[in-house]
Amino acid sequence: MTATLEPTTAHDAPTKTFESLNPSNGDVVGVYPIADKAAVDAAVARARAAASWWGALTFAERAEHLLTWRSVITRRIAQLAEVSHRETGKPHSDAQIEIILAIDHIAWAAKHAKKVLGPQKVGSGLLMANQAATVEYHALGVVGVIGPWNYPVFTPMGSIAYALAAGNTVVFKPSEYTPGVGQWLADTFSEVVHGRAVLQVVTGLGDTGNALCVADVDKLAFTGSGATGKKVMAACAQNLTPVIIEAGGKDSLIVDEDADLAKAAEAALWGGMSNAGQTCIGTERVYVHEKVFDSFMKEITEQAKDLRAGSDPGAKIGPITMPSQLKIIKSHLDDAVAKGARVVMGGPDAVGERFVQPTILTHVPEDSTEITEETFGPTLAINPVKSMDEAVELTNATQYGLAGAVFSKKNGMDIARRIRSGMTSVNSIIAFAAVPGLPFGGVGQSGFGRIHGPDGLREFTYAHAITRQKFKPLMMLTSFSRDAKTDGKIAQLITVLHGGKQTLK
Ligand code: NAD
Repeated sequence: MTATLEPTTAHDAPTKTFESLNPSNGDVVGVYPIADKAAVDAAVARARAAASWWGALTFAERAEHLLTWRSVITRRIAQLAEVSHRETGKPHSDAQIEIILAIDHIAWAAKHAKKVLGPQKVGSGLLMANQAATVEYHALGVVGVIGPWNYPVFTPMGSIAYALAAGNTVVFKPSEYTPGVGQWLADTFSEVVHGRAVLQVVTGLGDTGNALCVADVDKLAFTGSGATGKKVMAACAQNLTPVIIEAGGKDSLIVDEDADLAKAAEAALWGGMSNAGQTCIGTERVYVHEKVFDSFMKEITEQAKDLRAGSDPGAKIGPITMPSQLKIIKSHLDDAVAKGARVVMGGPDAVGERFVQPTILTHVPEDSTEITEETFGPTLAINPVKSMDEAVELTNATQYGLAGAVFSKKNGMDIARRIRSGMTSVNSIIAFAAVPGLPFGGVGQSGFGRIHGPDGLREFTYAHAITRQKFKPLMMLTSFSRDAKTDGKIAQLITVLHGGKQTLK
């Protein structure tokens, strides 16, 4: 997969390159440089220099640049969708939807940064009544972003747009499967800021990502597998560089006895199979109340009957982008079937050389890897449960905690609140990802930190608390001249304030 480019001058070392391939047919769709440590350090140094310009702009000025970029992406959406389609294999229309969501996030981050991050007054309390208290959020400087391939625009944009809107510059390392998408984003942003190094791309494999982790960045936002996330944290620990980890999941969709079964089946099918199941917040498990299990199965098999994977325009499911994943999908299906799961559709033989045909299993043992580990393929494990208590218990019995869905007419919110995950949608699927004001992120092995919304903006800043003395204090606390009389008065005051028995109403 790697080759070497001719040196551009006699003194340059030859640059190693790698190929980006079309997963539908193996065609080479681009050749990109492998940025080594020196190249990554140089990009970070350029970003640091650009940060003094970008960070000094007002929120309104930065918003103007970001909104211009948003318009450029919108006008050239078909072009970007085509790059994504060729590199990931996903249908062109799916690539477009992902970009639409990303555009909405850029606009939200640009328009809300001032309100969320600008100076805010804080009540100073009775003890410090003579002080005016303010908190404001400052940009960190340079943010490194490492992205995956499955949603090569939407996923990294959750970090890139919010970090930029907060006043940071960004060095982005896209997945080696989607370097062209990353380059396209950086090139268009560069047009908007007339070539300034506000958003740069460094292409390459894992070593390039590692070089970014140990470079002079002020924060590292990683999205990818938990296994790589651990390496990222270890590398970032060297410089005490803070990290955000957005890792995998094993999300469930819960169907209560009063649910609209047609809608729940439609959501489960799309949640599990769209993007060939290669979605961090995709549905992998479904727990259905036993009273409606048979009706639900009838509904979902009927809806799934024409669904298939392929590269022709009629196929709604594309290839498995990363060839090594095929072995993992097959091993999960083999394990489930060996342990007693029933095959309703597809099965272990549905795993081909590039494509996996939609697969539905039922009665999947809870100790099989199809239930315990992220499969990342177009497969659904659907199990009956006796009650919603059992559905919640099984949903939470996982190392992950990313997202999920609940279908219930009466009890949706109650059930949702009991799920240990970062995001849940009631009576719909992944709706939270398209609400820019909501935070996005997980717990447990799904990672930590938040992108999107006010939390996502603050994630790329540090809080700065400032007090300004308005008038002389009645009692001077912070002085060696404080006497016993003052201590007595303070004791009296604190007793009045906090000594009584009070209950919160
Ligand atoms: P991956 O972990 O293989 O790679 C992610 C990125 O890390 C790539 O750019 C890769 O080059 C880089 N990398 C590899 N080794 C590295 C190292 N040692 N140091 C630094 N960087 C290194 O993940 P992937 O296969 O690209 O993505 C799929 C995974 O991402 C799935 O587990 C999926 O659930 C997860 N994901 C999570 C979210 C989320 O928001 N939580 C979103 C999308 C995908």
